Amino acid sequence: MAEQPLHPTPGKKVNLSKFDPDYKGDYDKGMAREEERELEDKLADLQERLYAEGKQSLLIVLQAMDAGGKDSTIKHVFDQVNPQGVRVTSFKVPTAEELAHDFLWRVHQKAPAKGYIGIFNRSHYEDVLVVRVNEYVPRPVWEKRYDQINAFERLLAESGTRILKFFLHISREEQKERFLERLNKPDKHWKFSRGDLPVREKWDDYMSAYEDALTRCNTDYAPWHIVPANRKWYRNLVITRTIVRTLEAMNPQFPPAEPDLDQIVIPD
Ligand code: AMP
Ligand code: MG
Repeated sequence: MAEQPLHPTPGKKVNLSKFDPDYKGDYDKGMAREEERELEDKLADLQERLYAEGKQSLLIVLQAMDAGGKDSTIKHVFDQVNPQGVRVTSFKVPTAEELAHDFLWRVHQKAPAKGYIGIFNRSHYEDVLVVRVNEYVPRPVWEKRYDQINAFERLLAESGTRILKFFLHISREEQKERFLERLNKPDKHWKFSRGDLPVREKWDDYMSAYEDALTRCNTDYAPWHIVPANRKWYRNLVITRTIVRTLEAMNPQFPPAEPDLDQIVIPD
């Protein structure tokens, strides 16, 4: 297969069946791991600069089907980064209080402050995915949300937040393998939920909902990336590389030192 684009062209309809979840370019596991380790060192350095500079922030959105690798991505991609500068938010079924507000209310509160990297494990996109597939709100309500999401993300972008959105693309077969692994390994039992099975049954509805989100909310200021995610090592490489390139482009700088530091004598 030819080189697979990671970032679909804005304005063009996304057809997920054209994106191979097994894609791995010319990489094997060893090469990918080695390159990822080098990138992780860069990521740690760039994160420190972002924090020290305190002027810009980075928001990383992770979306996937169950067992798609969101938790594992967070664990592996950020394991060299200073936890003090990173805030992870996992969005669950909304509480009564959250449901009593507009759908972005709980999300906006968790947007990263200047100097921070914010990671969303699920996000406001659930409100056009699970909510749409299960008709938790009527169509005219979720239909408006694509524009509302774009407006919200534009506000964040214009306020100094770079946004990167990753869809971890696994195949239906791969999900089955991962569910079976959860069932077969006692230390993974806690990750298995019977509730994930009815979601799996609606796989095609979810893919359609994802295609719409990936098409309608794929903007210059908040681009989507479709990550081939059947191979965890390729997934980690692609995500780490994309984050590093983005931070390099943001080019955070250490603030200037106080003057005359070389004159300072530390008293005994
Ligand atoms: P997990 O990520 O496995 O801990 O599961 C979180 C659950 O919360 C998933 O089943 C999501 O679909 C669900 N969830 C997250 N956000 C929403 C939302 N806005 N509306 C309904 N369900 C949601
Ligand atoms: Mg889950």
